[in-house]
Amino acid sequence: MYKVIDTHCHLDEVDDVESIVKKSQNAGVVAIVACGLDYESNNVVLELAQKYKSYVYAAIGVYPWTIPDALPNLDREVQFVEDNMKYAVCVGEVGLDYKKELVKQAGKQQQQELFAAMIDIAVKHDKPLSIHSRYSWKDCLNLVSDAGATKAVFHWYTGPSSVLRGIVEGGYHISACLAAEYHYEHKRAVKETPLTQLLLETDTPVHYQGHKAEPADTVRVLTAVRELKELDLAAVAEKTTQNARQLFKIA
Ligand SMILES: [Zn+2]
Repeated sequence: MYKVIDTHCHLDEVDDVESIVKKSQNAGVVAIVACGLDYESNNVVLELAQKYKSYVYAAIGVYPWTIPDALPNLDREVQFVEDNMKYAVCVGEVGLDYKKELVKQAGKQQQQELFAAMIDIAVKHDKPLSIHSRYSWKDCLNLVSDAGATKAVFHWYTGPSSVLRGIVEGGYHISACLAAEYHYEHKRAVKETPLTQLLLETDTPVHYQGHKAEPADTVRVLTAVRELKELDLAAVAEKTTQNARQLFKIA
């Protein structure tokens, strides 16, 4: 059994956390980073990190899709993240999403202002960022690097190789998910990222080709990455777990 870390999931959206956690422990998952999206889910992941101490670690942040609903209280959402950073290992899930459906409700400028505030918190507290960068890869990279953030994970990356080169040269990370089994762009990103900058994740409870992910699937992601990198399982498990421990300061 290989020791792996699920570096990005939404444990607050899971029905039976107790059994999901037990199953992931039995599969070899040695830690889980649970990401919040808004005031409510940030509260839940902080509680889960308390309940499953030294197993579940909280990432808190305000997600771009939160903007339309939270608009009158956006400052409160941001302040909550700032006030609770000492209980979290990461600022996430944050970033930009240029899908038309969202841009109509929350413009690029508005999303960038929120993301900039999240980056400032990460820099100030010396924490990594877990970044959602759909159709906004280059802007995400520019905002992060211009703000002087040195630690960031571009989760489920499917953007162009040119931006990926900037991510790698900037010393940032990519996290591989179950899409590494079938998605052309994501597979290419995993292949092009050095093992020293790769992490594993599930984005639980997202559905991949009909399969509802859970943290135990991190082991499946490990196998998919191993095949793409043409390395042995032990080497990929050891390095990606070490990368995660270093980045999130998980003992
Ligand atoms: Zn996510």
